[in-house]
Amino acid sequence: MTESNHDQAEANCDVIVIGAGMVGATAALGCANQGLQVILIEAFQPDTTFNREFINNRVSALTRASENLLVELGVWSDMKGMRIEPYTDMHVWDASGNGSIHFDAAEIAEPSLGHIVENHVTQLALWKRLESHDNVSLICPDRVVGVSRESNGSKVQLESGLMVNGSLVVVADGKKSAVRDMLGIETSGWLYDQHALVATITTEKGHQHTAWQRFMEKGPLAFLPLGHNADKSCSIVWSTSPEQAEQLMALEEQAFCEALTEASEAVLGKVTNVKDRGVFPLELKHAKTYIREGFVLVGDAAHAIHPLAGQGVNLGFLDVIALLEVISNATGQQRDIGGMHTLRKFERERKASNVTMLAAMDGFKRLFSNDIMALSKMRNAGLSIVDNLGPLKQFFVRYAMGLD
Ligand SMILES: Cc1cc2nc3c(=O)[nH]c(=O)nc-3n(C[C@H](O)[C@H](O)[C@H](O)COP(=O)(O)OP(=O)(O)OC[C@H]3O[C@@H](n4cnc5c(N)ncnc54)[C@H](O)[C@@H]3O)c2cc1C
Repeated sequence: MTESNHDQAEANCDVIVIGAGMVGATAALGCANQGLQVILIEAFQPDTTFNREFINNRVSALTRASENLLVELGVWSDMKGMRIEPYTDMHVWDASGNGSIHFDAAEIAEPSLGHIVENHVTQLALWKRLESHDNVSLICPDRVVGVSRESNGSKVQLESGLMVNGSLVVVADGKKSAVRDMLGIETSGWLYDQHALVATITTEKGHQHTAWQRFMEKGPLAFLPLGHNADKSCSIVWSTSPEQAEQLMALEEQAFCEALTEASEAVLGKVTNVKDRGVFPLELKHAKTYIREGFVLVGDAAHAIHPLAGQGVNLGFLDVIALLEVISNATGQQRDIGGMHTLRKFERERKASNVTMLAAMDGFKRLFSNDIMALSKMRNAGLSIVDNLGPLKQFFVRYAMGLD
């Protein structure tokens, strides 16, 4: 990967990727592996060192489908060399009753249900691969300030004054995508009455390679196992009201650990240590269209989702898989990779699938963050019924793993 010094006023390539988050970096690498010339534009200079002692408080539960993509791109082994943690089980229970459900990888004859991976591990492995790729140029740090489509392709104007030209622009600049706005693409959605508090914790008992999730009236609390500290470290995502999130952030460490022990019903014994608390407002956002001629939205720029089932970046990776396929088909048939014929196929495939997941997660959020007695009884019964229905349960697991 070469870094542009902006000496030239124009740069040309096949594919311009805007945003080198997990999704944009993956799309750039996939396109480069197909032999396309790629320019990747990122607003912030990334930290490219891996410090074994530092645990990132932002983690993602990556599905088997995401793992397969990252294996194919040649980055999974580097991620493994840093730190990833497989989880074999998932235990979900409702605070207001006896309903619970347990998923076990063995029930679907898989070695694990997925992996908990620190976001910066994924990011770093992708960066390293991109840096050494002959087909990739990185422009960083720089920001997109304007976009247009002309008869000879798409144009991206940068803050530095550089103009980048390409056949296709992949827009991966995240949930608050400025480029989506520049393209005049509207979104639908709403802010949730919940904020997600994240942190890294140590517990008295080992995590048993299990993802634990307790649904409470104000929102779910998840303990996600980390491969560190003799299996006694977890990353947490505690979704709760903005007011409670603020109170929890203000607590001293000891008081926070006690609150967390109580909220988790001491499922892993006492919480003995907490580090790096942070808060993120939660929202559902969905772009009304993913495409304009010469432009395609992927990842959070197209869809942002509640993190309760850890699907956000996994949906972004599924977007990348579909996009790489339509690009490969288009180049094979010598069609324009930025043409509407190519991009409509992508949108048809991904929009329906993303809408299903967005609606399901929104429904779960509403069903579980609720203290109406009848709903509470229904969901407790529902959890226990599904727990005892082998085929339906297996379908849910395989769907969540991105296998069906
Ligand atoms: C608390 C929490 C827990 C989560 N847990 C999970 C989980 O377990 N599993 C899961 O799948 N998902 C999870 N998610 C969702 C996941 O984090 C996101 O879906 C994912 O990070 C989106 O990646 P992205 O690359 O699309 O966007 P981003 O990560 O937002 O990356 C966008 C990039 O674009 C750059 N950029 C922005 N504007 C410009 C510009 N104008 N010019 C150039 N560059 C620009 C930014 O600097 C950034 O690097 C969670 C989210 C939250 C909040």
